[in-house]
Amino acid sequence: MAKKQVEVLIIGSGIAGMCAGAYLSHEGYKVLVVEALPRIGGHCSTIEYNGIKCTTGVVGPGLGGPLEELFQHVGAEFNVRKCGIPHYLINGKVVELPAKGGLRALLSAATDDEDEIEGVVRAFARAMNWAPPPETITMKEWLLQFAKTKSVLDLFQTMAAATAIVGIDQISAKGFFLFLKQHRGFRDWGVCPEGSIALPSSLAKVIERHEGKIWTNSPAIHILSEDGKVTGAIVRRGGKELEVKASVVISNCGPGRTVALAGKENFGKGYVEALGRLTPARAIGIHIKSEVPLLDYDHLLVVGARRVNAIFQLTSVCPELAPPGTHYLVAGADPVSSLNPIEAREEIDLCLQDLREILPAFESHAEVLMTGIYHGDWPAMFSIAGQAMPQRTPIVNLYAVGDGFISEPGMTAMAGAAQSGIAAAKDAATRLKHA
Ligand SMILES: Cc1cc2nc3c(=O)[nH]c(=O)nc-3n(C[C@H](O)[C@H](O)[C@H](O)COP(=O)(O)OP(=O)(O)OC[C@H]3O[C@@H](n4cnc5c(N)ncnc54)[C@H](O)[C@@H]3O)c2cc1C
Repeated sequence: MAKKQVEVLIIGSGIAGMCAGAYLSHEGYKVLVVEALPRIGGHCSTIEYNGIKCTTGVVGPGLGGPLEELFQHVGAEFNVRKCGIPHYLINGKVVELPAKGGLRALLSAATDDEDEIEGVVRAFARAMNWAPPPETITMKEWLLQFAKTKSVLDLFQTMAAATAIVGIDQISAKGFFLFLKQHRGFRDWGVCPEGSIALPSSLAKVIERHEGKIWTNSPAIHILSEDGKVTGAIVRRGGKELEVKASVVISNCGPGRTVALAGKENFGKGYVEALGRLTPARAIGIHIKSEVPLLDYDHLLVVGARRVNAIFQLTSVCPELAPPGTHYLVAGADPVSSLNPIEAREEIDLCLQDLREILPAFESHAEVLMTGIYHGDWPAMFSIAGQAMPQRTPIVNLYAVGDGFISEPGMTAMAGAAQSGIAAAKDAATRLKHA
């Protein structure tokens, strides 16, 4: 078998792997990224369809935070255009989120009960500014102490699902508030004018500038270790198998695949069980094309619908994503059966019923380009906000990164994945320096 030697091998070109690769390349290490698919980026990528740059997952990366800081640190272009003010659809009324007093404004649209509004606002302020509630109760259990109106519960469900891809019956109350703090209420996010793939591509340029390599269509099929220490991986490339020897291996291919590639028996007791306790996030994305705008604003958060929790008219922020005169939208939905098996057809039908009711021009002008249900082996995220896993695995010099390996409490999604990649890269750089 042919052999190749690198300092750092990265398995998977999701945003976490690319952040790790760019950081270590910038530090002067020789990096090889291997990616199973023909394109880089994983859930942060782009598929061109009917001339539209459709996203493979990420709708809007958060601005500021670890992701943008990493881009600045390594000198990569961060081309993300900020979105406008969020609008909420509550009880048939559209509410523009004011710069201050946002929660009170939203609650006032959800209920007429002043005592309930006051109770929720005060409890919310205590949890944000004094001490977060315990980890042992869900956000829904916390809320039920102060809220009784269904629309109020629905409002929080939408806030959690549309921004953190999680239900209030799944996320811990502590996780919810840590998420809001870490992501500054998720008000600051944007859209990539060149499509989501622009972000990993920009990091790829950093890796290549430092003589690193990125191989697509090249899955790792086995992670190699000896005496509890990683030694490299077997990679399939061009129909042949190749042994890549590496001092450090960073796996970005998800918890289950990392364990399968390296062999469950090599992780020792407890680790695989801890991975099994992570709650994967499920989501549905409906990609829509229209010849007329379907929304008057760039995004609408939907409260109390069957499934749809948000509609993003991405071309309102970045018209470059579609040919002139064409509008590209993504509707996000959380399967309410998220704790149960998903009935794909039924879920999509419920989403389409929602869209017909919410968007007056949907029936006459919209075309559904594709639908994505993210669950099982390909979830929207491998863990939800509030859960934490370290990047160091029990195998020495094998790191696991991605949205299932976030060590900063409250971080989630792309920012969390980026945090995990950067943390692993910093640790690996220190170890390589002293090796
Ligand atoms: C519908 C949807 C909407 C979302 N919207 C947002 C949003 O608006 N904002 C936000 O911040 N986050 C959002 N997210 C979450 C975000 O997309 C993910 O958290 C993030 O992109 C995950 O990155 P990752 O590094 O963990 O890896 P992934 O994106 O999961 O990438 C892993 C990579 O590993 C590769 N791979 C797998 N096996 C192998 C192998 N054996 N060898 C080589 N390569 C392999 C895969 O092909 C893939 O490219 C959304 C997700 C979904 C699904």
